[in-house]
Order: sequence, then structure tokens, then C-alpha cells
Amino acid sequence: MTASTTQATTRATRATRATRATRAARTQTAAVTTTADSSDATGPNQEPRRDAGQPGRPHQQHRAVDRPPRDLTAQIAYLTRAIRAPTIAAVWADLADQAREDGWSHEEYLAAVLARQVAAREANGTAIRTAGAHFPAVKTLEDFNLDHQPSLRRDVLAHLATCTFIPTAGNAILLGPPGVGKTHLAIGLGIKAVQAGHPVLFDTATGWVTRLRTAHDDGRLATELRRLHRYRLLVIDEIGYIPFDAQAANLFFQLISSRYEQGSLLATSNMPFSRWGEIFGGDDVVAAAMIDRLVHHAEVLTLTGDSYRTRNRRELLAKDPATPGRNI
Ligand code: ADP
Ligand code: MG
Repeated sequence: MTASTTQATTRATRATRATRATRAARTQTAAVTTTADSSDATGPNQEPRRDAGQPGRPHQQHRAVDRPPRDLTAQIAYLTRAIRAPTIAAVWADLADQAREDGWSHEEYLAAVLARQVAAREANGTAIRTAGAHFPAVKTLEDFNLDHQPSLRRDVLAHLATCTFIPTAGNAILLGPPGVGKTHLAIGLGIKAVQAGHPVLFDTATGWVTRLRTAHDDGRLATELRRLHRYRLLVIDEIGYIPFDAQAANLFFQLISSRYEQGSLLATSNMPFSRWGEIFGGDDVVAAAMIDRLVHHAEVLTLTGDSYRTRNRRELLAKDPATPGRNI
């Protein structure tokens, strides 16, 4: 077969497909209109039927097919309600004007209308997931001053920001002294996850233990751990600030174990791994087992340097010689 014959065949196949698609779309539109008409009394076609009262013919059938709706605006309003697409209802007319003015093709107009609906739906989902994540503050990766963390592995941070570790149940661990931005980055990455469509839940290590202790005391620890699987990312902030007793250490271990290769964890700690035994009641064995599970599929980011809070304070004090306590 020559190149030109191949092109001609491809064009012919496309044309046949397009004709079939158009016919199918027409049939579907008729079907939708019929179903819609029969199921919702608020539909645009409310006039009496021509065939009303004919024996053997169900009253609600054929109406839309026999008589296409005269009022297109009402029909679109009805159809957008039927498919729960309020954004399309809000934008189709303006976009139609724009399409006429700018000479858009039908396909371009359709794509523009659908894109607006999809964007609105995504924004809505992100807002709901953000509220459900219980972030303690709004901190974004974009607001994070990387110059203050010259040794931070930016490629790793950029990789984590893509959230590709979440579908594979990978983990992320942020280590460093107080005030260097661990919580800021944990929230920023959590927001990225929420924007990527993942349900996220944020709490401090102490908060998680309290939640698990309550569930344990109510005899529903296993149920609670299972319930948490609906969140594709759990953020555990501030591991190490408050040491755990033996029961807390055990509950915490169960949380880490239940997530292993099942769901992602993003943990922050002011303690290096070598001192985690101190956090978990001096039990180095539990600490080692926990670290083992956490780091198996994990990116570990270490933050260094002075606290950002005191740095800002020091800079302010340095600028104003009259400020009392400038030598702090
Ligand atoms: P950590 O959790 O490590 O103790 P935080 O994340 O709570 O530190 O940071 C303390 C404060 O400093 C927060 O208000 C945070 O937004 C801010 N901060 C810390 N590091 C940075 C940074 N590199 N860029 C911008 N803000 C920062
Ligand atoms: Mg913190």
C-alpha cells in the first residue's frame, strides 16, 4: 500500500467513525431527553401530549422524540441539573457568545465548557479534602524559603511534591531541629497531596496516640486503623517532642505497622533515628522495628540550621539598634 493510499484509507475510516459517532450522539440525546422527560416534572417540556389518552400507549413515552423542545435554554438548564453540572449551566451561554465572536469550532466550544466544569469540580474536591485534612495552618511549598535551607536536597523535595510516592504507599520523613520548617514542609506537601486528589489527615504524634488510645479503650482499635486506610496520606508531626509511655509506644507501633506498604506516612521529628529509643520509653527494639518499617520505602529529608523564627527575630533586632534586648 502506498503512503497516499494509506492516508486516504485513514481519512475514510475517520469519516465513517465520525458519522457513526454523530448518529450515536443523536440517539443518546433522544434517549436522555426521553428519560429526563419521564423522570422529572420540572423538565422543559411540560405541554400536554398529542397522544394523551390513546389506548395502550404509556403517556410518558415518545413525548420528547415526537416534539423536540422549543426552548433550548430551558432544556440546557434541565439537562445540566440532570447531570449535576451547575458550572456548565452557569457558563454555557457566555462561552457560546465568545465562541461565536471568536469563531470556535463545535469541538473547541465543547472542550471549553467541559473544562470549566471539570476545573470547578476539582476545586470543590480540593476544598473538601483540605478541610478534612485538619492542617493546623496554611503553609505552602511555594512560600518556603529554600535559601534558608541551602543543604536541603531540592530534587528530593521536588520529587515528593509530585506526590508519586503516595499511590505506591511510600513514606516521607523530615528530620531536623526546632524551627527549621519541618511542619511548614509537611503541610505544604500535604496540600500538594490534597490537590492531587488524595485524602489526607494531619495530626501531631501526641494527637495520633490520643486518638488510638481512645479507640483502644472503646474496643475499636482495629476498626479505627482500618478506617484510617481511607486516607492515602497520614501526616504525623512532632515525633519526639513528648516521650511515649509503653502503651503509647505500642499503639504508635501498630499505626506504623498498619500503614506499611498499605498507605503513606509523612513524619517529622526533631530527633535523629539514633535517639528514637528515648522517645519510645527507652525501648530500642520497638524503635528499631518502627524505623525499619518507616524507612523501607521512604525519602528522608534532613533540615539544618537555625530556627527560622529566631532568625527573623535576630534580623529585626539587628536592623533596629534601639530595640531593647538586641543582644538576645
Ligand atoms: P519546625 O516544625 O521545624 O519546628 P516550623 O515549620 O514550625 O518549624 O517553622 C517555624 C516557622 O517558621 C513557621 O511559621 C514556618 O512557616 C516558618 N519557616 C520555617 N522555615 C521556613 C522557610 N525556609 N521559609 C519560610 N518560612 C519558614
Ligand atoms: Mg514543627
